[in-house]
Amino acid sequence: MDLRYSSAAERFRREIRRWLEESVPARWRQPSFWIDRDGSEESLELRRRWEKDRFDNGFAGVDWPVEFGGRGADHEIRAVHDEEMARARAPIGPFLGLTYLGTALLGPTLLRYGSDVQKRTILPRILSGEAIWCQGFSEPESGSDLAGLSTTARRDGDVLVVSGQKTWTSLARHADAMFALVRTDPKAERRRGITFLLIDLTLPGVHVRPIRQMSGSHEFGEEFFDEVRVPVDGNVVGRIDDGWAVARYLLSVERNASPISQYVEFSHELDDVIAAARRTRKDGRPAIEHPQVRTRIARCRADLELLRVRGYDAMTRMARGQDLGAEASVTKLLWSRTRLAIADLGADVLGADGRLSPDGGHFGHLRWRHLHVRGQRIAGGTAQIQRTIIARDLLDLPR
Ligand SMILES: Cc1cc2nc3c(=O)[nH]c(=O)nc-3n(C[C@H](O)[C@H](O)[C@H](O)COP(=O)(O)OP(=O)(O)OC[C@H]3O[C@@H](n4cnc5c(N)ncnc54)[C@H](O)[C@@H]3O)c2cc1C
Repeated sequence: MDLRYSSAAERFRREIRRWLEESVPARWRQPSFWIDRDGSEESLELRRRWEKDRFDNGFAGVDWPVEFGGRGADHEIRAVHDEEMARARAPIGPFLGLTYLGTALLGPTLLRYGSDVQKRTILPRILSGEAIWCQGFSEPESGSDLAGLSTTARRDGDVLVVSGQKTWTSLARHADAMFALVRTDPKAERRRGITFLLIDLTLPGVHVRPIRQMSGSHEFGEEFFDEVRVPVDGNVVGRIDDGWAVARYLLSVERNASPISQYVEFSHELDDVIAAARRTRKDGRPAIEHPQVRTRIARCRADLELLRVRGYDAMTRMARGQDLGAEASVTKLLWSRTRLAIADLGADVLGADGRLSPDGGHFGHLRWRHLHVRGQRIAGGTAQIQRTIIARDLLDLPR
């Protein structure tokens, strides 16, 4: 087995690294930079400009077809892109990346299920950051039980009239549009009668309300739809009443996420914890000398390596055109568990004083992360749901 990248991929690495050195200022790489500006206009504006610059320089959608604004590169170049973005601590991923939900979830789904017109009109605007997308799957009474959703879309001539509520929507504060699941046939069996619909959030009848998380962040939101008239033409992905298959595909993409960039990103988070452990005392000696701390660091490191290998495996399968399907649930469990273990270790290294003080002392980012990453076990489907999928679809265990 040869795990080295091709020379073309290494050439691309040098090219993107040069651009990242210029476009990601050193202060952005400080662990607290974005946390200190969480929710501010400054943060939004900096990230918006950066996304545009990234697009103009050809580093958005590197593996998307050129005709839709991408670079048409192969999976290896995409992997190098993910690694380098994370290495530079660029503002990407579900928390900082303004285009994340469009590029990571909607884009691949449209490339598979979208019409030619949808691909031509929507994909380039995702990459340039002109349209910021959010995901409207969860509702107050349906999260794990997604097929139980009750937001309806009634057909009225050439529009669908949407009524209901979505919640726990990441990026809701900044989004211009939402890809949503709506019930178009209330009489059909639960998984039929659901449509994958694109909704312009500026339409009359849409109300967005922010939700504050325990970390203090409030990019989350809930949306209320009061008879919102969405044209059928151009906004239904796949066929009416047949959105479940589209949603399942999107969820498997979401659960796999990007293990290669997560490996680098979470490694930085572990490095931050190690730095804190060197400077903090526990039981009368530096925390880094404590056997339990050392054991936990080693366990996190081992899980990170596992994540890296899964990343290569996923990359190979996708390059062969295979779907990840239920396998993505294993990756989701692994990355959420590893990130939580790193954050918990950080909180334990800080100790009670660091955890309780409003800014967490010198290592406020560890305190913030400890609170913020709790949600990772839930987002994209809870750990219990992933275990059920693994037991049922991969292990074929009796129910
Ligand atoms: C950080 C974050 C970001 C999110 N972003 C988005 C977003 O952008 N868009 C979006 O649509 N949603 C988003 N969500 C919502 C997320 O998808 C749901 O919270 C999740 O699917 C769980 O649904 P729920 O909150 O309704 O919990 P419930 O489904 O009510 O679950 C409550 C508890 O019961 C357990 N449970 C439920 N059913 C079963 C079962 N059959 N077997 C065993 N245990 C079960 C669950 O594991 C959980 O512990 C986000 C959530 C978080 C935390």
